Amino acid sequence: MDNKDLFLEQIPLGPMENFVYMIGSKSTREVALIDPAWDIDFLLNFIEQQDLKLSSVLVTHYHPDHIGGGMGGHSIEGISDVIEKNPVKIFVNKHEAEGVKKVTGVSDTDINIVESGDHLTIGLNDIEFLHTPGHTPGSQCFKINENLISGDTLFIQGCGRVDLPGSNSDDMYHSLRKLSELPNETILYPGHHYSPEEFQSMEKTKEQNMYLKVPDIVTWRQIMG
Ligand SMILES: [Zn+2]
Repeated sequence: MDNKDLFLEQIPLGPMENFVYMIGSKSTREVALIDPAWDIDFLLNFIEQQDLKLSSVLVTHYHPDHIGGGMGGHSIEGISDVIEKNPVKIFVNKHEAEGVKKVTGVSDTDINIVESGDHLTIGLNDIEFLHTPGHTPGSQCFKINENLISGDTLFIQGCGRVDLPGSNSDDMYHSLRKLSELPNETILYPGHHYSPEEFQSMEKTKEQNMYLKVPDIVTWRQIMG
């Protein structure tokens, strides 16, 4: 894979320490927005100012701090505002589609359903979709060359909550197992800025993150209550 063509921008946005990501190709200038929320004009202006072209929206999971929608009586900007201003397809895991539609009001025709192992090409860059249920049923991570964009599945020092509606603690265990098999040189880019580092190698994360070190599911269940 040609890393020289990869464009990757990590953008802290909103009051909940979310990271929005922009990934794409330096040669074709196409970019995808990952979990765009909070300030859509800012993100679309950024794309325009850098002479980039939005080609798709990728969703890690359906929580409104990542994709917009209603939360606690407030309305958060998100994917429905993006496609209203700049119509592109929204890539959603098949187990997350219902939740995404319900939270944001987007329709079936706005969505491109993906499954684990599916790929999307942007310029010379390959994006692989990895289904990582646990935080939500259709949570997914994106593997782009040697980078992993992990949403709320894996944080640098933790993992996503599994006590919410739609969460499943056992599924999270298996998803974290799957991510811990990624090569050490993979760079982890989480969905929130919850630790001093903004990104970190999987090698260091495997050494430091206690949730990746749980030896078996029995121990996991004891820890997670
Ligand atoms: Zn979440």
